[in-house]
Amino acid sequence: MSDIKCKDMVENIMGYIDQELDQTTLFTLEKHLELCPECKSFVDTYKRMLSLSGDLKNQKFVTPDIRQRLKDILKTKLKPH
Ligand SMILES: [Zn+2]
Repeated sequence: MSDIKCKDMVENIMGYIDQELDQTTLFTLEKHLELCPECKSFVDTYKRMLSLSGDLKNQKFVTPDIRQRLKDILKTKLKPH
């Protein structure tokens, strides 16, 4: 995974925010973020939504159901490349 597309960013956003990714994936995503303003704002939006819904460390509130819905919303915002 050396070159990723925006949809890969969306797929990995949860792991990225939760810092559950391995170093290689993390590095690849961060590289993409530097090059892609769309994904940068996507991550910012996601972080903001999470912080609105409570403490980032207290994620019990963010159930898998909510996450999936969030992901769907953001996916429709980003045009798949
Ligand atoms: Zn992108």
